[in-house]
Amino acid sequence: MNTTQPLEPVARFVADAMLGRLARWLRILGYDTAYEKVITDETLVERAVREDRWLLTRDRRLVLRKLLRGRHTLLASDDVEGQLHQLYQDLKIDLDLTHQRAYRCADCNVVLTPIGQADAAPLVPSFVAQQYRDFLQCPRCRRLFWPGTHWDDLTRRLTAIRARSLDTQP
Ligand SMILES: [Zn+2]
Repeated sequence: MNTTQPLEPVARFVADAMLGRLARWLRILGYDTAYEKVITDETLVERAVREDRWLLTRDRRLVLRKLLRGRHTLLASDDVEGQLHQLYQDLKIDLDLTHQRAYRCADCNVVLTPIGQADAAPLVPSFVAQQYRDFLQCPRCRRLFWPGTHWDDLTRRLTAIRARSLDTQP
């Protein structure tokens, strides 16, 4: 059980090496989430403290570190939907993608910038350019995002996670 209560809304996270999928989801949801595949416990805790990030971990030894001063969530579930559900309940993260926010690149953790149809057209398949007007681009990796079928799938899964908020199981 996690009894930690945040004092203010949590916006910045650092996820441990086991939580790559969760980090990607949080970035898509707009949360600044630091994540490195290979990182020592020391560096992870140091980064959380130095950058004032809320630590997300599956490692119960890690949360005993005094340096963290309780600014962590020990995740109970192995699967990403269970983990998001726990953060929704414990930290009240916003799982509604229709709310206006600064979306982030799942790979780079950088805020996406809007680009127009004309600029996006040469970079996407023609049926996509014809069908969508609004595109977002990652300023670092240049990947383009638009509200396609993948987006609908994400929205459906997030809605399902919110719907089980009254369950007792994390
Ligand atoms: Zn990127």
